[in-house]
Amino acid sequence: HELRTPTAVILAECQYALGAEQAEQTAALEVIQRQGKRMSRMTEEMLTLSRMERGQTQLAREGTDLTELVEVICEDQQELLPEHLTLRWELEPVTAEVHQDMMIRLVINLLNNAVRYAKSEILVTLTCQHGTVTLTVSDDGVGIEPEHQKRIFQRFYQVDAARSGGEGTGLGLYMVRQIARLHGGTAEVESVPGQGSTFTVRIPAE
Ligand code: ADP
Repeated sequence: HELRTPTAVILAECQYALGAEQAEQTAALEVIQRQGKRMSRMTEEMLTLSRMERGQTQLAREGTDLTELVEVICEDQQELLPEHLTLRWELEPVTAEVHQDMMIRLVINLLNNAVRYAKSEILVTLTCQHGTVTLTVSDDGVGIEPEHQKRIFQRFYQVDAARSGGEGTGLGLYMVRQIARLHGGTAEVESVPGQGSTFTVRIPAE
């Protein structure tokens, strides 16, 4: 279904454009380009996921300064932040055995969502207590209704595809949870509709 829909749109637009005036052809090409980009993003994400899932037994973990890893991502995000948003981070010194590329992906996915949905503020925290590393990403945005909270971690699930400006694939949080699980951890959300959301990832420090 996820690939059939954009494919059907592309074929229909091609059919239409072949018999249309130039202005309409341009409009059709724009639709085709948008759908093509979407399929391309989805293909990339699915490849990343299957590589991840395939490699799960020989997950190459390294002792990592998680504080630095998260800080660098926050600093980069800060540079690109839309003007109406502020981003803060409160990070304790934490090291853990992680697959670095996957961890980077996890943090970026959560942060991208927060930027997409926040109203004005985003907060990232990192702590370590009793052998458990906890990362949280909070925003003060639209929030998520209780009936959607469980399902947003499912593959391809989107609360409202239009909300993400047609850019989402519904794979971001699925990937976050898979990465947490491959590290023996969990990914959860707490949210009050209209007030915001907090995503929490917990992984063992060892
Ligand atoms: P997508 O690529 O569509 O963003 P995700 O798996 O990252 O897919 O997210 C799934 C859905 O969860 C999104 O469509 C969105 O509706 C909801 N969502 C994710 N993050 C947030 C957030 N911070 N605030 C509100 N809704 C969110």
